Amino acid sequence: MALYSAAAAVLAGLERGEGGLKRLVYNSGFPHVRQLYALVSETLRYASVLEKLLDGAALLQAEKKLAPQLAKVLVYDLLFGKGLKCGGRWKALARRHRARLEAELARMKVRYKVSRNEDLLAPEKAVSAAASQVPRYIRVNTLKTCVDDVIDFFKRQGFTYLGKAASVEELKSLSGKKFLLDLHLPELLVFPSQTDLHDNLLYISGHIILQDKASCLPAFLLGPVAGSHVIDACAAPGNKTSHLAAILKNKGWSVHSFSWVLGSAFRQIFAFDVDPKRVATMNTLLTRAGVTGCQLAQQDFLTVDPRDPRYSRVTHILLDPSCSGSGMVTRGPGEEAAPSAERLQALAGFQRRVLNHALSFPALQRLVYSTCSLHQEENEDVVQAVLQEWGSAFRLVNAFPSWPCRGLAAFSGAESCLRASPAETLTHGFFVAVLERCQEGAATPRWERAVGDSSCFWGVP
Ligand code: SAM
Repeated sequence: MALYSAAAAVLAGLERGEGGLKRLVYNSGFPHVRQLYALVSETLRYASVLEKLLDGAALLQAEKKLAPQLAKVLVYDLLFGKGLKCGGRWKALARRHRARLEAELARMKVRYKVSRNEDLLAPEKAVSAAASQVPRYIRVNTLKTCVDDVIDFFKRQGFTYLGKAASVEELKSLSGKKFLLDLHLPELLVFPSQTDLHDNLLYISGHIILQDKASCLPAFLLGPVAGSHVIDACAAPGNKTSHLAAILKNKGWSVHSFSWVLGSAFRQIFAFDVDPKRVATMNTLLTRAGVTGCQLAQQDFLTVDPRDPRYSRVTHILLDPSCSGSGMVTRGPGEEAAPSAERLQALAGFQRRVLNHALSFPALQRLVYSTCSLHQEENEDVVQAVLQEWGSAFRLVNAFPSWPCRGLAAFSGAESCLRASPAETLTHGFFVAVLERCQEGAATPRWERAVGDSSCFWGVP
């Protein structure tokens, strides 16, 4: 179509210094000058992004006869504009390269940790803006205190309590010495982003845990009832383990299971981590948080025998394995290198193996798989591959129906998974999938049986 050729000619004229944008557009002879002007100026705005996309997708190498200026306007309209308005060879060219260009765009967004196209124009600004809008979340450690007492404590320290938030927008507008109760999680208080509580007495004494909201989702959604036997498979440094212990109320045995007769008496959480230093840190953290009833082992979870009688009553597993960490929002400037395709493949291979291993525990009813990665390869793809291997033995639970950000449409049903991001949920980037053994009434908490009724969520056992 003449529009794209005319736009490419204007870009080439600008590069050769033949005049300014307006003059070149008016002199182009193209009848719709406004349309031409808009396309060229938008292509120029996205120029550096377009150059990286063309490089990454190796478009000019694949289409040797395509001039770079024409490539830029075509790719601009294809990915950022209103879509190509033409037929013939440009459309065929777009069809050939569209998937590669879209994948490259997705990779670029992951690399810069942004979710909107606009943010690619000033990625560093977008990253620090994202970081600065993620509030400071504190989880009240109910093993040591309760929400009301913590609220009173902060009020006495000069903070103003604004009540329970009604929307994510409300969290965004927090400032000064004000704080809110979170709208989704009942034991989470929300402070403005810059609030530093590392020296706070409640933090030092383990009464509160500084934990991002998204990282509180796995234990909350696993939701074991007191007395359940639970494995935290990749546990260190232990924030989710201490959350599990709080949900289980540190109760290590139940009269009904008579578990006190066995060596596992009072041990209801079995926590594993392969890294000795992280295990040592975790020990300190769990002690400070007042966690009892947790058996912590420095061991590769893949070597834990599912048929060992000690684990015969394990009904719940929390699996938060090593990942690329691409969802972590750094509070300082700087861009981290995106993981290479090989590294992603290696991580995904480990994640599939460890998830498969977790599902092989014979009494398992419910499992939460989570990562702080934004990559589909480590998230939806892992869940899909493993579910396929297990056939009809496990199903994906429609977790937290009122949570706004869902799994990517990588397979049918992937929207049952949760995602989190600074832009949409005011948290670090995160992924959670809840799997359950397929059998009537298994371990489905009552709030999930009433899918769609978000009010049921508060009935956590
Ligand atoms: N769940 C933890 C928390 O909330 O504090 C964070 C876990 S971190 C994302 C992943 C952990 O998996 C790391 O501490 C790492 O040492 C551990 N890990 C990696 N491979 C492992 C394996 N094969 N068995 C057990 N732990 C492993």
